[in-house]
Amino acid sequence: MKNSFTEALENRDLRLLRKVPKSDLHNHALMGGRLRSMEKFTGKKLEKFGHGSKGVHGINEWLGEVYRPLFDVPGAFKAAVDAAFLQARSDGVTRLEMSMDAFMGRLFNIRPEEIVSTFTASHHDIAPEIDFRPELGFSKSLPVRTLLSCFEPYAGMGYFRSIDLYDIEDAQPLENFREIYRFARKAGMKCKAHAGEFGSAGSVRQAVEILELDEVQHGIGAAESPEVMKWLSENGISLNVCPASNISLKRVRSYKTHPLRILFDHGVKVTVNTDDVMLFNAGNSEQYLRLFRSGLFTAEELDRIRMNGLERTQGN
Ligand SMILES: [Zn+2]
Repeated sequence: MKNSFTEALENRDLRLLRKVPKSDLHNHALMGGRLRSMEKFTGKKLEKFGHGSKGVHGINEWLGEVYRPLFDVPGAFKAAVDAAFLQARSDGVTRLEMSMDAFMGRLFNIRPEEIVSTFTASHHDIAPEIDFRPELGFSKSLPVRTLLSCFEPYAGMGYFRSIDLYDIEDAQPLENFREIYRFARKAGMKCKAHAGEFGSAGSVRQAVEILELDEVQHGIGAAESPEVMKWLSENGISLNVCPASNISLKRVRSYKTHPLRILFDHGVKVTVNTDDVMLFNAGNSEQYLRLFRSGLFTAEELDRIRMNGLERTQGN
């Protein structure tokens, strides 16, 4: 069926595409804005992310060398959160699940209450029309005891509605994080985790089973196995895929060859998301357009993928 989204794609009209409602369900808040927003805040040019071939290690290097030092300047945290909401608004995002790292407060000495009030103020001031669902993120590289102690102050607030787990994929066994997921589920939060970004189809299924996930961040490794895709489809597990990130990190060669097509053809519920606009420099509208231009999907198919992200899921 023709609508403004399919028309915008067919006319390659990025401006119109940006006005059509869409979701972003895989977005790391502090890297969710454009780099130029942070350049405006600091008043200086910042080195672009360019360590794609090193995968997540490259991201950690860029964060340590370029981005983290900015947070010594008062107001940087608010500027980064503002930048993420500005980006979402300018891209027509109407449903946003954006994660905030649970350890961040401790790292930069910001109280949990201040973190929550910053998010609330940015959402209210910049994009109150967005259905914003705050997410709490955990790094696999930190000891579980540390993560649990970071989680505690937030759990009682009822502010965060989902959790996510990321960083180096095999940093420690997934079983270690079961307690965090049990804790989150008890608090009524949706359970998500990064899996199969670089890993295999088996690692995606394992993550879903061990942590009892509702959704997987990335999960593209599943495309190797018809059996795992069937299982994901039958169990209603959706994958929040980020094509620009996969291409930038050299996991996938191009939009034309992205496994999103295989997942879609096997009935897996997929969505398109940004991951880190600051690093990969592509909003969702740009990604939809690139997927269309590459010939991987028709406009109608991309519209179905767009709607996947806007549908209400269980508990939401
Ligand atoms: Zn991610």
